[in-house]
Amino acid sequence: MIVMKFGGSSLESAGAIEQAASIVQEHLDHKPVVVVSAMGKTTDRLLDAVRAAARGNSYSAWQQIEALRRMHFTETRGVLGQRAEPFLRDSIAPMFRELHELLVEVSDGRQFTSVIQDQVLSYGERLSSLIVAEAFRHLGLHAAQVDARKVIVTDDHFTHAQPLYWDTYARLRRTVGLLASDRVVVMGGFIGATPGGATTTLGRGGSDLTASLVGAGISADEIQIWTDVDGMLSCDPRTLAGGYRLREISYQEAQEMARCGAKVLHPAAVAPALRQRIPIVIRNSSRPEAEGTRVVSKVESGPGIVKCVTSKAGMAVVHLRVKSQGMLSSITDGLADLFAREHIAVDLIQAREQGISFAVQNWPGLSEVLRKVDESVDVTVEEDRAAIWLVGEGIAHLGNGASTLARARAALQIADLRLTSQGSSSLSLGFAIRESDLRTAMEALHREFFAAPDRSVFAVPEGGPGRVIRAASPASPLRQASEPQAAPAH
Ligand code: ADP
Ligand code: ASP
Ligand code: MG
Repeated sequence: MIVMKFGGSSLESAGAIEQAASIVQEHLDHKPVVVVSAMGKTTDRLLDAVRAAARGNSYSAWQQIEALRRMHFTETRGVLGQRAEPFLRDSIAPMFRELHELLVEVSDGRQFTSVIQDQVLSYGERLSSLIVAEAFRHLGLHAAQVDARKVIVTDDHFTHAQPLYWDTYARLRRTVGLLASDRVVVMGGFIGATPGGATTTLGRGGSDLTASLVGAGISADEIQIWTDVDGMLSCDPRTLAGGYRLREISYQEAQEMARCGAKVLHPAAVAPALRQRIPIVIRNSSRPEAEGTRVVSKVESGPGIVKCVTSKAGMAVVHLRVKSQGMLSSITDGLADLFAREHIAVDLIQAREQGISFAVQNWPGLSEVLRKVDESVDVTVEEDRAAIWLVGEGIAHLGNGASTLARARAALQIADLRLTSQGSSSLSLGFAIRESDLRTAMEALHREFFAAPDRSVFAVPEGGPGRVIRAASPASPLRQASEPQAAPAH
């Protein structure tokens, strides 16, 4: 058995669903279980709608849901043709009515909880799994839809629920594993339910995690992540064009790349596959002939090769300066708890002589939170920052790390980087820079480390390397980053 996960853009239209069906058809011999995301940008729209309803703006909420209803109806008609009407009437229209009612309740009561958010967001994958299963049947596949909430069991951390592995695997084996022997199972990613039956979600991008859970639960031979890029590339194509596809990466590298901003894979999706050594393959649903990137245990590459430049925008760099180190640990423990509760990743942690610096995703409440830190602590926040990483096994090992660091610094032309941090696992080297410099910084690092890519590691197209790698749009000269900044004096 294999798992085939299709992301939102791979299901955004009737044509995309037909393409997914033909890809699945090609893999029927391997008894595929198909995990689907919500169609296109449905989850973003549902979130906008529930937030509008919570502000009491029921008209805006209604408009968003109407747009979603039209899109789902149009694309379903595009695949099913004449057969669409009874299916839309009996299976899809009632779900949109429920969704409207739920949002009316939210706007009437002006009550917006994480429980309600998960209920609303779950409609994306519930709708897509029904539509895709029906489309597959229409196109000749023997498909059966399974409600993911019946098999993915989670705790009650609504919006970021953690899977309860034993229950989930037992249910997956009993239901999905059995059904998959003679049917193409189609189930929604991202959603689950508590043991008591309350709907939960696994966090944004969580369909990858569902795919990995299903793979581990049914002991699949492979987990395929079908998306809109050829695989894991040496840089995010949305920031910088011209990156190279990685042929193979290790589980640890994939996890670090995902953790450091390579959104093509959810960071939590690696662990369940890794425990059973199930290969994950990232592939392009628009170019199924492309090989993709395999995530496996051991890769045939010497240590110290930079494999990927990743980044996160919208960051803030926080410097805490204390009078005594004793005080520091109680403050950092408190902050770590708080960030964990808010599901905010703390990156680029760097100890300083009298304090600590780190980068976090900036959000409107950050300054408020930091104001509450003990008054005797000097807190400085630099906003409009981005974090940028070099990722690859062994690049931050002593010796090699130093030379990689020196080359990165030279490429960035920044004498005084605000933060430089070696990942604890020696898999990454990260820097905080000004957000406006992000594209240029990525271009500079990519030029430095990918001038002569190793063809056993990267798929280098004919004519490359030597192609000019360009930032996707003009950015301010990087030199500006070395100008004096309002920074703490430590
Ligand atoms: P899906 O809807 O299929 O889950 P996502 O949008 O979540 O797709 O992930 C795919 C996107 O990940 C790509 O379009 C690309 O912009 C982004 N991405 C970020 N870093 C990388 C990288 N290093 N290699 C490939 N894609 C990347
Ligand atoms: N639909 C969900 C999201 O947009 C989950 C996913 O696509 O992985 O976050
Ligand atoms: Mg995704």
